[in-house]
Amino acid sequence: MKKNLEQYSKKEHGINKKDIDPDVMIIAETLIGSGYQAFLVGGCIRDILLKNKPKDFDIVTDASPTDICKLFSNARIIGRRFKIVHVYISERKYFEVTTFRSDIQKNNKKKFKKSHGMIKRDNIYGSISQDAFRRDFTINSLYLDLDSEILHDYVNGLNDIRSKKLKLIKKPSVSYQEDPVRMLRAVRFESKLNIKLTDDCKDAIIDMSKMINNVSPFRLFDEVLKIMHSGYGTIGYKKLRKLNLFKYLFPYTDKILNDNGIYEDFFIESLNNTDSRIKKGMHVNPSFVYAVFLWPYYRELEESNLKGNAQDAEIVFNRVIQSQSKYISIPEYFQPTIFSIWSLQSSFLNLSKRNVQYLTRLSKFRVAYDFFHIRSLINQDYRYYADKWYEIQKNVKSKKVEKRKKYYEKKRNK
Ligand code: ATP
Ligand code: MG
Repeated sequence: MKKNLEQYSKKEHGINKKDIDPDVMIIAETLIGSGYQAFLVGGCIRDILLKNKPKDFDIVTDASPTDICKLFSNARIIGRRFKIVHVYISERKYFEVTTFRSDIQKNNKKKFKKSHGMIKRDNIYGSISQDAFRRDFTINSLYLDLDSEILHDYVNGLNDIRSKKLKLIKKPSVSYQEDPVRMLRAVRFESKLNIKLTDDCKDAIIDMSKMINNVSPFRLFDEVLKIMHSGYGTIGYKKLRKLNLFKYLFPYTDKILNDNGIYEDFFIESLNNTDSRIKKGMHVNPSFVYAVFLWPYYRELEESNLKGNAQDAEIVFNRVIQSQSKYISIPEYFQPTIFSIWSLQSSFLNLSKRNVQYLTRLSKFRVAYDFFHIRSLINQDYRYYADKWYEIQKNVKSKKVEKRKKYYEKKRNK
C-alpha cells in the first residue's frame, strides 16, 4: 500500500470531543503540554465513526515509555516484548498509552524472531506512519490528533469506513501469515460492525485457514470468546464454519457436525441465547460457550466408551479437555463449570424430591439448567422435564431474592 497521508479537518471527519472520555483528554493535555504528540487510534475511532460506543480508548504518542512514566505518577509499564504504559485515573480505571511502533521487516530482519512464518516483534519504536502500516485493517488505522483535532489517514481508512468495507492494510496472504489471528478478527469485525470483508481478504482466509493452528491455544481461547461474546456470536459462528476456520479450532466437534447435523440447531439456539443476554446487559459465563461447542464430542465419547457412572464422566471430561487443548486451551479456572454443566445433564431427567433438593442447592445449578433448557428446545423428549424445571428454578430464584432482601434489611437496621 502506498504511503499517502490524507488529513481531515473536524468538519470533514465529524468526530466530536464529547464522544471521547474526558479522562483521555486530561492524559492527552499532559503529553501535549510537555511537547509530545497524543493521538487516539484503533477501535475507538472506528467505533465513533460507525456511531457505536467505543469499548476503550487507546492513546499513541511519540513519548517513550520512560518519558510517559516521568509525566504521570500513576503510570505502570507492562509487557515484556513490547512495552506499553497503563496510566491510572483511579484504582480501577486506566488507559493504555503506547509509543509509535514499527514493523521494519525489510531493514532490520535480525530483530524479528520467526515461528511458523509468524513474525514476533520486539520493542522497535517508529514514526506515526510506520505505526499506521503495522496495523491490521484500514478501518483500525485512523489517528485523531488530540491537539489539532485533525484525523490522519495513511491507508484510506475513512473512505473504507464510509463504504462499509473491511480491508487488510497489507496483502492478505502476507498479513495472515504474519498473524493468523487476524482471520478471527476479520470474522469478529464483519459480524459485529455490519461491514463487508473484501473478496480477496475473504478468499485468503479459506486458503490459509489451517494456519490458525500456528497460534497459541491460549490466545485462541480469548479470540474465539471475543467473537462469541460480541453480541453477534451466531453470525460469527456461521462465518467461522463457512470460512473453514471452525474445522481447525474444534476439529473433533467439526467432524461430528459433518457426519450428523443434529447439533447445528443446538449451537444456533445456544448462541442466540448468549447474543440476547449480551444485548440485555446480562452476565455471560465463558464456560458456557465452550461447554456448547465441545458437547457433541463429550456425548460421542460418553456414548461410545462408557457405562455412565460418575467416575466415567470425569474420565470422558478429561479426555475432551486434553484433546481439545492442542487447538484451544481451556483455562483451568473455567473447567469445573464445564464439567458440572455436562455431568449434571442426566440429573434433569429425575424429578424426585430428593434430586430436586440436591440439584437446586448446587452453585452450578443455574448454568446447567440453562444448558438443559436449550437442549429441550431442540429435543422434544426433554420438553416435559424442562417445563417442570422451569417452575422449580423460578421458585428457587424468588426464594433467593427474598433471602437477599432480608439480609439487606437486617444490615440497614443495625
Ligand atoms: P475492540 O473493539 O475489540 O477493542 P480493536 O480494534 O480496538 O477492537 P484491540 O485488540 O483493542 O482491537 O486492538 C487495538 C488496535 O491495535 C486495533 O484497532 C489495531 O489497530 C491494532 N491491532 C490489534 N490486534 C492486531 C493484530 N493482530 N495485528 C495488527 N494490528 C492489531
Ligand atoms: Mg480496543
